[in-house]
Amino acid sequence: MIPVEQAQEQVLARIRRLDPKRVLTLEALGCVLAADITSDIDVAPFDNSAMDGYALRAADTLGASEDAPVVLRVVDHIAAGAMPRATVGPGEASRIMTGAPVPRGADAIVMVENTTSLDMNGSTGGTVAIGRPARMGDHIRLRGEDVRVGEIVMSAGEIVTPAGVGLLAALGAIEVEVYRRPNVAIVSTGDELVDIASEPGPGKIRNSNSWSLAAQVEAAGGIPHMLGIALDNAADTRALLSRAPDYDLMISTGGVSMGDYDVVRDVLEEIGQMDFWKVAMRPGAPQTYGTIGSTPFFGLPGNPTSTMVGFELFVRPSIRRMRGFTELFRPRTQAILGEDVRKKSDRRYFMRGRVVRDSAGVYSVSLSGAQSSAMLTAMHRANCLISLPEGDSVFAKGTEVTCIRLDMEEGTP
Ligand code: AMP
Ligand code: MG
Repeated sequence: MIPVEQAQEQVLARIRRLDPKRVLTLEALGCVLAADITSDIDVAPFDNSAMDGYALRAADTLGASEDAPVVLRVVDHIAAGAMPRATVGPGEASRIMTGAPVPRGADAIVMVENTTSLDMNGSTGGTVAIGRPARMGDHIRLRGEDVRVGEIVMSAGEIVTPAGVGLLAALGAIEVEVYRRPNVAIVSTGDELVDIASEPGPGKIRNSNSWSLAAQVEAAGGIPHMLGIALDNAADTRALLSRAPDYDLMISTGGVSMGDYDVVRDVLEEIGQMDFWKVAMRPGAPQTYGTIGSTPFFGLPGNPTSTMVGFELFVRPSIRRMRGFTELFRPRTQAILGEDVRKKSDRRYFMRGRVVRDSAGVYSVSLSGAQSSAMLTAMHRANCLISLPEGDSVFAKGTEVTCIRLDMEEGTP
């Protein structure tokens, strides 16, 4: 048995970032940029109005008040998307809409709320009363105030956010270069398994692990490929495991323990290479890691929670590294244990828990349900894994413990 940290190091030592790929800008959401993004335009591309109102010369409005408004002649009406037809001279104003280009001669916008149109329709030919003085530059959005031509807007290594997608669209980037998502093959093993659409016969259960794993792969930003169920014999298992080289990563569940029909390790050693077999943890001590061809292979245990915890600790950081992320591990919260917990001293425990923050800002954590690794309900209710270190066997209520936050992404403070 090797300690958890050593197993994680051994796994990650072999994982490399995948090649960059050009993808449609929307598909880049959540991905790591592989190249800097340089703008070839100014954003905003021209000086424009930040308000619906009147474009005018600030000097004309000196001393204006509601009681003694300044009256200006309206010379133009500029809609968003249109170009001004008139220059604004002294004593003049142009009706202007938000986003419309500021006309020559004008140096300020007055909001329509601070004006009174004197010809009922407020358009060209009438006059407008300005009820308060404007300062130069009021409500004018300047060309290039967001992005300047030639500027590096986003750098390689940054994660594309929804705002980033919008920014890329504003720059006209239809495609962008990111580190691609790994294709992850998922194999379930077990004579007892039937597909979820089937009614399990005597002694049979539905294959739930392929689904929880596919969901975890997707949540981690990988692309899941469910290859199906291998029966508990070498030929069947070999047939599916030998497809590993077609994928960036392969996960299997079940068949790695001490059972008479646990053949995954034998097959791995036959068609690939095994790095380690047992990790000093619960749930999920028996699990195997290695390579088939050059594809990393994770033989996770079969119990539904064990397989998910194994994914969380070993596969998820690997997928993130492949995707170009540098932060690979979930945030952790220190919390006060809400109940006594006993464990075996030679293993690290990852108990399913719910951590909450009280109004004073103190975090406490309690178990989210029965801790059998065969049960999924406590895992479903959990927002953290309570990490209880090797060495001790009793953790009393009130002890401070470390919670791995399943509800938070890397980089969240
Ligand atoms: P194993 O590791 O193959 O000995 O399986 C351990 C336990 O997990 C057994 O009770 C299996 O029936 C169960 N199990 C294995 N694979 C799956 C699966 N894909 N979906 C649901 N349960 C499974
Ligand atoms: Mg089995």
